[in-house]
Amino acid sequence: MRDSGKFYHHSGAVGALFVPRGIVLDGTAIVLLGIAYAYVIRYCPFIYLNVIALCGFAGGVGWAISDAVRNGKCRNRVIHVLAGMAAILLALYTTWVAWLLIFSGHQYLILDPRHIWRLLPPIAARGVWSIGSSGTPVTGILLYIARAAEAVGLAVVTVFFARLTAPGAFCERCGKWGRRLRDSDRLAFASGTDRKAFVKSLAMGDMEAVLGLKPCAQDCLDWLTVEIDSCPSCKDLLLLSVSRHVMTPNRAGEPQIKSTVVMRNRLIDLPTCTRLVEEWSTATGEATAATAG
Ligand SMILES: [Zn+2]
Repeated sequence: MRDSGKFYHHSGAVGALFVPRGIVLDGTAIVLLGIAYAYVIRYCPFIYLNVIALCGFAGGVGWAISDAVRNGKCRNRVIHVLAGMAAILLALYTTWVAWLLIFSGHQYLILDPRHIWRLLPPIAARGVWSIGSSGTPVTGILLYIARAAEAVGLAVVTVFFARLTAPGAFCERCGKWGRRLRDSDRLAFASGTDRKAFVKSLAMGDMEAVLGLKPCAQDCLDWLTVEIDSCPSCKDLLLLSVSRHVMTPNRAGEPQIKSTVVMRNRLIDLPTCTRLVEEWSTATGEATAATAG
């Protein structure tokens, strides 16, 4: 079980600008993206381009969520998740409103979700597009499944991009998000190490395990990397994360690297950070000298 005092946790605070900025700027961006996406799926006959447009739309929504969190200084995970769900619902709602407007020849702007819901059965019965060269429109349950798959796809890709672009730790003293200070080279398990037990001790925040790591050969197949994040203005917030990378052949026999985070955002002090950086520098220098010799 983790000792919570060793690891960084968000304070739970939310910046005063989070809601107004999120609604005005990021909400508007989502609405504009939703309108553009509705035009693409209405007029583009190529399903592959529609899928690419959906991924681009979801990527934009994910980025908007992270932009609101970053610039609104939201350090509350529950509010972060609720804001993300609201953004996805706004994206879906905007798409359906804009699509119905376009579908009606720009005659009807239907904003009430209940009216939109009631229009679905007649539209599904008639069909709106076809797959393949037959020209037979997709109708009924198939159309519902297609719309449901689109909604699920939008949600999944949005969450992926939102996680990818989400800010990390926040320095409460300076009011700033942390940033990457240092990445290590590939670090090896010591020979004879019980790797399962070693990884478990890392996950528990064992700093002695980290301090004992040494660089490994570039052709090793199982290695660790250490990342240090810090506040850009002070050295009160220093965080260490460790990832494990294993290279294995895929089904085609080509090498692929599977990476997992072993230790995330372990709080460290400045002397420990300095010691780690010096050890890596010394070890790298020794390795370089040995190679040159
Ligand atoms: Zn700071």
